[in-house]
Amino acid sequence: MKKLILTLLTASILVGAAQAQTAGNKPATEKQENFEHLADRFADLQVLRYKIDGFETLNPKQKELCYYLYQAALSGRDMIWDQNYKHNLRVRKTLEAIISSYKGDKKSDQYQLFLTYAKRVFFSNGIHHHYSSKKIIPNFNEQFLSTLIYGSNAKLLPLQPGENVKDFVGFITPVICDPNKDAKKINLAANEDLLQTSAMNFYEGLSQAEVEAYYEKKIDKKDPTPISYGLNSKLVKENGEIKEKVWKVGGMYNNSIVKIVSWLEKAVTVAENENQKDALKKLITFYKTGSLKDFDTYNIAWVKDIDSRVDVVNGFIEVYGDPLGYRASYESVVSIKDMEASQRIEAIGNEAQYFEDNSPILPEHKKKEVTGISAKVITAVVEAGDAAPSTPIGINLPNANWIRKNHGSKSVQLSNIVSAYDAVGGSSLTKEFCFTDDEIQRAYLHSSLAGKLHTDMHEVIGHASGQILPGVGTPKETLKNYASALEEARADLVALYYMMDPKLLEIGVMPDLEVGMAEYDAYIRNGMLVQLSRLELGEQLEEAHMRNRAMIARWAFERSKGQAIVRETKYGKTYFHITDYKLLREIFGELLREVQRVISTGDYKAGQMLIEEYGVKVDLELHKEVIQRYRQFNLAPYKGFIQPKLIPVLKNNKLVDVQVTYPSDFLEQMLEYGKDYGYLPNYN
Ligand code: ZN
Repeated sequence: MKKLILTLLTASILVGAAQAQTAGNKPATEKQENFEHLADRFADLQVLRYKIDGFETLNPKQKELCYYLYQAALSGRDMIWDQNYKHNLRVRKTLEAIISSYKGDKKSDQYQLFLTYAKRVFFSNGIHHHYSSKKIIPNFNEQFLSTLIYGSNAKLLPLQPGENVKDFVGFITPVICDPNKDAKKINLAANEDLLQTSAMNFYEGLSQAEVEAYYEKKIDKKDPTPISYGLNSKLVKENGEIKEKVWKVGGMYNNSIVKIVSWLEKAVTVAENENQKDALKKLITFYKTGSLKDFDTYNIAWVKDIDSRVDVVNGFIEVYGDPLGYRASYESVVSIKDMEASQRIEAIGNEAQYFEDNSPILPEHKKKEVTGISAKVITAVVEAGDAAPSTPIGINLPNANWIRKNHGSKSVQLSNIVSAYDAVGGSSLTKEFCFTDDEIQRAYLHSSLAGKLHTDMHEVIGHASGQILPGVGTPKETLKNYASALEEARADLVALYYMMDPKLLEIGVMPDLEVGMAEYDAYIRNGMLVQLSRLELGEQLEEAHMRNRAMIARWAFERSKGQAIVRETKYGKTYFHITDYKLLREIFGELLREVQRVISTGDYKAGQMLIEEYGVKVDLELHKEVIQRYRQFNLAPYKGFIQPKLIPVLKNNKLVDVQVTYPSDFLEQMLEYGKDYGYLPNYN
């Protein structure tokens, strides 16, 4: 629930494949400005590289710690594939077998189409698009798929015991090629059984109603410190009985988790301090017992670990992949603190009480005391599982509301990821949707800082603010499929409201209110127009962040009645132009009050109205126009990353140093990961 992904669609420069392939492996000493961020471009995707700024400033023990956590992170990779869809691991092993052993013509157009398909699947950790969650349909036909499979080494194919290649082709062909088979990973459409219509692998043999009834009985709504029910298991019905297959040592996903634990145990031996050691030990305990009480204990220890330079998120974290919002996807982010940039975010965190006290939300929905908000800017060392190749730019954890309230939370922004996005971002797209030269100028001067400040505030004071009234239940229980979009809206609205507050000048994080204005411009442009470029014609908004952005922009537009936001047409093109920033700030404040009220009181009907009325529908004519305007730039709407590679330097079998290299071939890294971390069997 607390993941922030790229706020705006940054424009990017199209790079031909030939140019991209010349990037080569770059040594770690390379300066940021000479670092080649672009690595690959295919379909709607762009693959970038990021640099671990400051790695060389770590001491040997901290580097060693990074290395063990890096190995632990990657060891869990197979889990996300299996969680996303139950046949994903077999599909991936098929792709790997073909790429490494196909004897036919690898120069043919058909084979190139196959490679593009394979890269798309690798990018999405499965056969469903990482963002839209729709099945990726290959541009080659079924015939060619069987040619590829028969032309490859049968020993490398993921055959089941007793299965021959012919049977296997019969099985895998519809899985890959049939557009109607398991067409969608996560369906959130109201009035449909969300489990029957979603292909994710968190449930087996159960209807939505059965699962809801199961948790209705199980969850004690009066418990002030509830566990995160269902977070670390698959729920199945076997012989008429509902049971949880828990992801732990000795349970489901044993092979991956055993490896994670063994690397974490090494990490404990080089922990920076007692708090970090304690947290790592508790994470190991959680993986061994699978007890969600242990997970809470771990999280409480993890939020206390604030003085370490190295930090890690490793576990079953976000529930976006489950249409019912119980089960979490595996992810890991290993990071080091960016000392300089952390000062900005700390300045905001230090004022958390001011922001809560001065918020436009109703007094009874405010936190009397905002506890332990810890904020920092980090540099990613490696990302894995659900956090890669596509990555968040901000993280705010843990997700359990009562832990956040009683023990605080950690909030981070990933500075080197943002830098990489900025480095490949262009200004042409921004220009296309700006109505005035002032707006263009503002974007040019301030959009980088504006975006960072928005993220800071979204994470540090946005998700951390407000409280749910006693006895109401969590947003997931009360607001159901609208909970994520409303929570994201709340965090965005807090950020937007304070983007125009002179307090930011006073605490020295912003030089001029023009920065806030640039953010308002960008938010309205994106929410009303630009983000539609991510959808195909005829589609509606489904993803939580997109819904929230559309809802906020459209609600504000309607509310302003032409006083703050004006719809303009110039040369047949549509623009949304802000005419009164102060008034718009008031309007954001008003909506924030309402969204917080919906969450605090669990007002499902009002929450549903906000999202369905403003955050779902797409105006077809406007959509056509946006796509046409967007297309001229030939951009990739989605971006992800190749991970740096950490290499241990051994002396007498003892690790004495760690070196970093920056691979530039996406496919090569994917194949390497498959070989090095492919711990799970075809089926779990
Ligand atoms: Zn968020």
